[in-house]
Amino acid sequence: MANLDTIVALATATGSGAIAVIRLSGPQAIPIVKGVFKGKDLAKQASHTVHFGTIRNGTEILDEVLVSLFVAPHSYTREDVVEISAHNSRYIIERILELLIQRGARAARPGEFTLRAFLNGQMDLSQAEAVADLIASTSAASHLVAMQQMRGGFSTVLKQLREQLIQFASLVELELDFSEEDVEFANRSQLEALIVEINRVIHKLIGSFEQGNVLKNGVPVVIAGRPNVGKSTLLNTLLNEERAIVSDIAGTTRDTIEDEVNIHGVTFRFIDTAGIRDTRDVIEAKGVERTREKMRKARLIVYLADPQQDDLDEIKSQLAEVAQLGVPYVTVVNKVDLLTRDHVDTLNAINPLFISAKNNTGVEELKEELLRKVNLHKLDAGDVLVTNVRHVEALRRTEEALQGVLLGIKGSVTSDFLAMDIRQALHHLGEITGSVSTDDLLDNIFSKFCIGK
Ligand code: GDP
Repeated sequence: MANLDTIVALATATGSGAIAVIRLSGPQAIPIVKGVFKGKDLAKQASHTVHFGTIRNGTEILDEVLVSLFVAPHSYTREDVVEISAHNSRYIIERILELLIQRGARAARPGEFTLRAFLNGQMDLSQAEAVADLIASTSAASHLVAMQQMRGGFSTVLKQLREQLIQFASLVELELDFSEEDVEFANRSQLEALIVEINRVIHKLIGSFEQGNVLKNGVPVVIAGRPNVGKSTLLNTLLNEERAIVSDIAGTTRDTIEDEVNIHGVTFRFIDTAGIRDTRDVIEAKGVERTREKMRKARLIVYLADPQQDDLDEIKSQLAEVAQLGVPYVTVVNKVDLLTRDHVDTLNAINPLFISAKNNTGVEELKEELLRKVNLHKLDAGDVLVTNVRHVEALRRTEEALQGVLLGIKGSVTSDFLAMDIRQALHHLGEITGSVSTDDLLDNIFSKFCIGK
């Protein structure tokens, strides 16, 4: 699918930094830059070469630059791509962009380079989406799953499933041409075995979403407990070590900034902490429902108790309430610095972690416990995890269609019905990789990218 126009955008972030990269893609990329570049004749240079020279507007020198050439199809978009590395001055960048647009380039829309890469077959849709995930990744785990998806791990699995299904679909459809003769080209028990196997893989992929989602978006955690047990103090202690990471997040594409703590490469997300910090007594009637709701939605609860305020029986009854929610929780006794030996012995009955949020004692052990509790499988670079809601929904629809095929085989339905259900399953699988896509879907996905990507 050839694009006739040539697009241009700043590919690096605006702001301070030594170098800015301006990228062009399209059939006129090389001639346009050649027209404003003084140095070697770019039209005569090999792909994957870099050239020093100046960008000029007539006789005016705008900048000394390096120009990198990527000749189609050996580029990110599979079109001719030129990257101009210039000095990162806002003035220079604006002037160069303006000049290139005057010469016939068009300002790129968000994600348009990656959209072209997809449309030109460089990558499928799930890989294109992984590019955005990769850029947004803030932890070792989210980086690993995005990288895996971008490099095509997920796509390969889907492609294999599709190929097997297509083969059977064609056999079943062939039967339609011979409907009077009542022949069966597609062996039903083989088809059934195939569908069962495909369903098993799809089921596993759907099951991986819980972990994939958590790795990509962070583990939602609620710190709960009565007022003054030390919830905010604990959160601050956890965050203090992570200030750098937290402030880094501000510039990314996230809608809301949450309190995030990176523990051994996994992001823990303390959700809506304003609400949590406001939370009054869990056992108290007022506000209980709101707190409960937050706790129910969490993947993990850290329940803080303060023996200065409550005796063992009270803490036990609070814990019983927490247990009812059915969410994994960690029992933590705070302010261990104020406890006597006897106190600790008594409290051992509930087998808690003892910490002092204020003095940062036991917090490391708490972190280890959090990691253990979410029970993430150790990830290998080869693991395929589904991290995208759109993908998991398409997989669920595929699974449903395949159930239809299985029922059809059992009920000995005619080939045309069987073929319809198989096609339906193929359609949903294709939605993930983009072999089936609509303009709306593509708009929706690529408009979330930044310009220049
Ligand atoms: P929250 O209402 O649960 O968020 O509790 P805060 O974090 O505001 O803490 C309530 C009080 O307990 C504050 O005065 C804290 O300084 C104090 N506090 C918190 N953690 C500790 C601790 O480990 N030891 C001691 N001695 N005091 C603590």
